[in-house]
Amino acid sequence: MGLFGKALKRIRQGLPKMDFIKNKHGDCANFDNGTCKVFHFTNLDPEGQACPHFKAKKLAETENKTKNLEK
Ligand code: SF4
Repeated sequence: MGLFGKALKRIRQGLPKMDFIKNKHGDCANFDNGTCKVFHFTNLDPEGQACPHFKAKKLAETENKTKNLEK
């Protein structure tokens, strides 16, 4: 990998992840009946654009299961 390749890799690693753009509040584990448990936003539209703190529901469920197995 040349100098240009290394510089490009560093730039890519430094950029924030933008995966949350594809998701909606309704798919977030922190979303509960129109409110955000993290930021305490109310009247959120479940179809609205997710924020960078998006946490997938399925991912949260598997994390909880592994925590229970570790105990
Ligand atoms: S996407 Fe962000 S604002 Fe929406 S429920 Fe999740 S954490 Fe809260």
